[in-house]
Amino acid sequence: MPAQLEDSHKLAADTARDFASKRLKSLAQEIEDSQSLPAELFREMGRLGLLGLAIPEKYGGTDAGFLASAMAMEELSKASAAVALSYGAHSFLCSYNLYAHADEAQRKRYLPKLCSGEWIGAFALTEPEAGSDAASLKTKAAREGERYLLNGSKLFITNGSLAQVFLVFARTERRRGQGALSAFIVEKGFPGFSVGKDMRKLGTCGSPLSELYFKDCEVPAENLLGEEGAGLRYMLEGLDMERSVFSGMPVGIAQAALDYALAYAVKRRQFNQSLSSFQLIQEMLAQMATEIEAARLLTYQAASRLDEGLEVSKYASFAKLFGAQMAMRATQNAVQILGGYGFTKECPVERFYRDAALIGIGGGTSQIQQLIIARELLKEQAKRRD
Ligand SMILES: Cc1cc2nc3c(=O)[nH]c(=O)nc-3n(C[C@H](O)[C@H](O)[C@H](O)COP(=O)(O)OP(=O)(O)OC[C@H]3O[C@@H](n4cnc5c(N)ncnc54)[C@H](O)[C@@H]3O)c2cc1C
Repeated sequence: MPAQLEDSHKLAADTARDFASKRLKSLAQEIEDSQSLPAELFREMGRLGLLGLAIPEKYGGTDAGFLASAMAMEELSKASAAVALSYGAHSFLCSYNLYAHADEAQRKRYLPKLCSGEWIGAFALTEPEAGSDAASLKTKAAREGERYLLNGSKLFITNGSLAQVFLVFARTERRRGQGALSAFIVEKGFPGFSVGKDMRKLGTCGSPLSELYFKDCEVPAENLLGEEGAGLRYMLEGLDMERSVFSGMPVGIAQAALDYALAYAVKRRQFNQSLSSFQLIQEMLAQMATEIEAARLLTYQAASRLDEGLEVSKYASFAKLFGAQMAMRATQNAVQILGGYGFTKECPVERFYRDAALIGIGGGTSQIQQLIIARELLKEQAKRRD
């Protein structure tokens, strides 16, 4: 299903492409080497309208939708997957999920500052003992008068050390399952909240990844997001949205790898001819281009379904699973085409290869996407039998 692209989609993609090529491309290596991301980039993206692509204008967004968001994600990822990851955690995991469930006062307090980049956002679901099985999380929130006291910790939180606003999932009842989880808006300065030091990682280096600690952390009752006990539904809807929009990321990483490898193959000569004249090299280039296009269409399909309010779980998992596998194959081929040079830090394909490894892990692993797809197939089959 090739999506119908409208002006708003093209504008978002063009704006992100322009910012990525003029600002991020030259900065990407510095972000990687220094393992830090300048907070100023958020304000720049805010001024360009990129931070609120899925948020209505009344709260400071541009209301361009999820397809536009996925396209922007692809463009940013071509230049810096680290920036794209932090951008996505801020704009969609924090800001959009907040918008989707917040009351009017919460929307007015948080969204304009998040959309402008004055505040940076993070999304805190994963815990040391609750990763793929996120619903088993143990952080507790106990109501005491006009506040909740949060106790527990979160692990692998993107933007942890940069953010001022955190969307935090905690257990408001002891029993497990629907109704037991709730979401809270936690500000950096709330008493009892602290952030651990940044973790070093394989790829997307520079996008901070942190542990968060809650020790009798005082959260005003008005910072409960939506309804108490509705957290599991918010989490599942948020994950479908995340997988659809973030699937632009492997497409961008792989496209950047293909562009670099193609240019190199044309220029590099061995056996008195360019690498690009060898059919074994052509096979790799053709395979990369075909799979990138397939992953792009799966992403567009999932994001368009979100825009249209259609059921998206299976389609989001298609895009994420295939994107993860495709990006690993494409970046590995790019390293291969560049030979020894591709194995060094002198060229960016080595970084693309490491960045691609995140896609099969963050936001639900590839195994979890396979389980979701199989579950949906079995549901469809059961319906056909009825
Ligand atoms: C760079 C990065 C950024 C992240 N950012 C965030 C963030 O901003 N916020 C946040 O909340 N989380 C974040 N995460 C956490 C991420 O969502 C989890 O790492 C992911 O969900 C997997 O959980 P886990 O690491 O605990 O692995 P585990 O759940 O322990 O899985 C380990 C392995 O077991 C497999 N496995 C698990 N269960 C099954 C099963 N039922 N069947 C088959 N295989 C299974 C997995 O597929 C995987 O291969 C981030 C992670 C990374 C690496």
